[in-house]
Amino acid sequence: MARDRIDEEETVMTAHGEPAIECAGLSAGYGSMAVVRDLDLHVHPGEVVALLGANGAGKTTTLLTLAGELPPLAGEVRLHGRPTTAPLHVRCRDGLSFLTEERSVIMGLTAHENLRLAGVEPAAAVELFPGLAPVMRRTAGLLSGGEQQMLSLARALGRDPRVLLADELSLGLAPLVVERLLSSVRQAADERGVAVLLVEQHVRQALRFADRVNVMERGRVSLGGPVAEVRAQIEEVEAAYLSAAGAASAPTDGPAP
Ligand code: ATP
Repeated sequence: MARDRIDEEETVMTAHGEPAIECAGLSAGYGSMAVVRDLDLHVHPGEVVALLGANGAGKTTTLLTLAGELPPLAGEVRLHGRPTTAPLHVRCRDGLSFLTEERSVIMGLTAHENLRLAGVEPAAAVELFPGLAPVMRRTAGLLSGGEQQMLSLARALGRDPRVLLADELSLGLAPLVVERLLSSVRQAADERGVAVLLVEQHVRQALRFADRVNVMERGRVSLGGPVAEVRAQIEEVEAAYLSAAGAASAPTDGPAP
């Protein structure tokens, strides 16, 4: 579902109660070296928040720490209002789903087997992504990048998460596929109240589908707020994002890889 931006009133209606996931004063990194510093972020049920920024800004490190793959160096992560230091598999049992940059599928199994293994009904996956129907019996390693990503997302959403953390969902994919993936994420937030934190390369797509945006620069949020406000500063957002990113992040035309 490609949807226009929701208005502010609707944002207030969906973003109620306590955040599903949040961090406060978070520093994170590798060994004792912090690459993310003093970060405050929150995502309410039903909200889609985009995390933008140049390569190396600290987006993946933030997601890894929120997911429980990296321990915080300082500060706190809270899941459903409760501080947590639990590892990823425990957070998953508590309704968190994490899609990493690498596609989260088992390449040697068929699409059908991948779904079954995740406890997801293949028919539900096809309903979400009709493009998976003809490739259901194909080995995942032989699927196109777009099909693999649809399969990853179908596995993640099929488990009915309360929180979805997704790193570069649309990396290297054609515009139509990106549209389909981000629409599904938006729909999961709207219809099922999933709290979504998206790391996105495509600034304009992120602005279309997210409620709020945070731009990271060198481990800190340099610009953030509701899309309606940030949109007015789009040139700053893109300058901050693209100056260090180098190549334009606009999706290319053409078939799915
Ligand atoms: P990209 O868009 O390129 O994925 P990012 O914003 O996700 O960038 P991170 O991957 O979080 O950025 O990296 C932030 C910083 O941490 C970078 O300087 C990176 O070199 C460094 N870094 C990432 N992974 C490691 C690691 N395993 N060990 C040491 N440093 C790392």
